[in-house]
Amino acid sequence: STVFLNGEFLPSDQARVSVMDRGFLFGDGVYEVIPAYGGHLFRLLPHLQRLTDSLRAVRIPDPYTETQWSGILEELIGENPGTDQSVYLQVTRGVMDRRDHAFPLGLEPTVFAMSNPIPDPDPALAERGIAAISLDDIRWQSCHIKAITLLPNVLLRQQAVEAGAAEAILIRDGHATEGAASNLFIVRDGTLITPPKGPLLLPGITRDLVIELAAGHGVPHRENAIGEAELRTADEVWLTSSTKEIMPVTTLDGRPVGDGRPGPLYRRMHGLYREYKQAVREG
Ligand code: PMP
Repeated sequence: STVFLNGEFLPSDQARVSVMDRGFLFGDGVYEVIPAYGGHLFRLLPHLQRLTDSLRAVRIPDPYTETQWSGILEELIGENPGTDQSVYLQVTRGVMDRRDHAFPLGLEPTVFAMSNPIPDPDPALAERGIAAISLDDIRWQSCHIKAITLLPNVLLRQQAVEAGAAEAILIRDGHATEGAASNLFIVRDGTLITPPKGPLLLPGITRDLVIELAAGHGVPHRENAIGEAELRTADEVWLTSSTKEIMPVTTLDGRPVGDGRPGPLYRRMHGLYREYKQAVREG
C-alpha cells in the first residue's frame, strides 16, 4: 500500500526512516488517528487542531498548514476509494547526528502517514458489550498530549488482555480518568457523566462528539470527575474512541455493570452516533 513520508507518496515497503530518528530512539513525537467514511475524513478539523496543540505542547514546529495536511490525507485515502479507513499520522522531532536528549538546532521533523481499512464495529459488541479491568494510571502528567511515547498504555492494555478484558480503565488518585486508548463515560440516574478535559486525559474527538450529540438531542449530561466508587456503582459504563466508536462495558473487574447488558442510554447514543456517521459517509 501507499504511504506518505517526508513529502512523498511511496509504497510502504520502500518507506525508510533513519535509526537516528528521535521518534525511534526517544519516542519524541506526536500522532493522530482519523477515520474516513466513504471517502470523507471524519471530524477532520478537530483532529488537526489537536495535532497542532500536541505539536505546540512538545515544541515541534508544525510542518504543514491545515490545507496541506488535508491535501495529504485526502490523497492517501483516495488510494482506496469508497472503503472505511483510518489514517494514522505521526510527526517526530527529526533525525539527530548523535544521540542527545536536548533538541539539536535546525532539525526537520519526520512526517509519516498511512491509511488502513477499518471494519465496521462488530454488531455483537452492541449486544454483549466488553469486559474491562481497572488499573492504576501509571502514565505521566501530560496525558492531554497525543505523544507516540505509549509504553505505559501498551503495558496497561496488555495487562487487560491477559486478564481476558478488552480495555483497562485507569484510576489516578481515586478517580477514573479514561481507558488505555479510549475515553470514559458513565451513566448515573439517567445522566451521562465524563471527566472534564485536563492534563490527565486525552481530549478525545469521539468524546466531544458524544457530548455534542447529547446536547443536540436533550440527553442530560455533565462533565464531572468520576470517583472510583461512582464508577463501580454506575448504571452504565462506556468507552469511546475514533476507531471503536462507543463501546458499552458490561463487566468491570469481573463484576457486572448495571444489569450486565448494554443500557438504554448506550443504545440511544449509539443510534445517534451511527446516524451521524452515516450522514458523513453519504457526504
Ligand atoms: N484516550 C487515549 C489515551 C487514547 O489513546 C485515545 C485514542 N487514541 C482516546 C482517548 C480516544 O480519542 P479519540 O476519540 O480522539 O480517538
